[in-house]
Amino acid sequence: MKVVSTIEEVRACVKTWRKEGKSIGFVPTMGYLHEGHGSLIQKARENNDKVVVSIFVNPMQFGPTEDLASYPRDLEKDSAFCASLGADLIFHPEPEEMYQEGFCSYVDMDVLTKELCGLSRPVHFRGVCTVVSKLFHIVMPDRAYFGQKDAQQLAIIRRMIKDLNMDLEIVGCPIIREADGLAKSSRNTYLSQEERKAALCLSRSIRLGQSLVEQGETNAQKVLEAMKVEIQKEPLAKIDYIKCVNGLTMQQVETIKAPILVAMAVYIGKTRLIDNFIVE
Ligand code: AMP
Repeated sequence: MKVVSTIEEVRACVKTWRKEGKSIGFVPTMGYLHEGHGSLIQKARENNDKVVVSIFVNPMQFGPTEDLASYPRDLEKDSAFCASLGADLIFHPEPEEMYQEGFCSYVDMDVLTKELCGLSRPVHFRGVCTVVSKLFHIVMPDRAYFGQKDAQQLAIIRRMIKDLNMDLEIVGCPIIREADGLAKSSRNTYLSQEERKAALCLSRSIRLGQSLVEQGETNAQKVLEAMKVEIQKEPLAKIDYIKCVNGLTMQQVETIKAPILVAMAVYIGKTRLIDNFIVE
C-alpha cells in the first residue's frame, strides 16, 4: 500500500491502473479511522480491483467556531488500519495541495443542503460538495462509498452526481455501532467518561423511534415527540434537531411513508453527535 500526498502521485497511480483495465473503488474520509470507515473500505475491497482511501480534514466544511483545529488525527494508525484491510493507496494531502493560492471555484447545492445539519452548519455542505467533487476528479473512481451515518451527506452526494452527470456509482453503507449502540464516530473521542454514557440517549431514542414505526405508527409528530422525551431524560444532552424528512429531498413530512429519514443532531456537552434511521 502506498501513501501519497500530491494530486500528481494519485493521478500517476490511477493512470497505470486504468491502462491495466482495473476498476477503482474510493472511500473519502477525514481520518482517525474506526470500524465504520473500515466497513466502507471492506465493501470497496470486495467490489473493485483497486481501493483508494483519502484522509483529509477539509477546512472548507468547518464553520469558524467548529472543531477544525482539534479534530483528531493519526496518520500512522490510519495507514496500518487501511493496509490491514487491503487498501492500495492512501491520499493524504495538505490543505495547500487541495486549495492552491487564488482558489475560488465551488460546488454548491440548493434545497437539500438547507435542511437538518445545513441549518446549524450553513457552510458545511458547500465544503463537502466542493471537496468530494475535487476528489472524484482526482481519483476518477468507478464506485465511491459513503456511510448512512451521514445520511444527509449521502443524499446530497447522490443528488450531486445526478445533477452534474458525474459518471460513477455511489454505494451507501449501513451505520456501524459500538456494542452498546452508540454510532461509531471519530468525534466520540471528545467525550468524557460521563458524556460517553450520556451519549447512549441518541441510540436509545433511535431504537425507540424505529420500534414505533415497526409497530405501525405513521404519525411523524408522535414518533418524534417520543424520541425527544427519551433524549430529554438525559441532563447532559441538548437537542439541535430531531426531524422526520423525505429521504431524497430532506423536506419535512407529517406522515411516515417510505422513503423516510428520521435524523437527529444532539449536543452532549460541547460535542455534537448525529444519528438516524431510515424507513425504506
Ligand atoms: P468522516 O471521516 O467522518 O468524514 O467519514 C467518512 C465516511 O465514513 C463517511 O461516508 C461517513 O458516513 C462514514 N462513516 C463514519 N462513521 C460511520 C459509521 N459509524 N458507520 C458507517 N459509516 C460511517
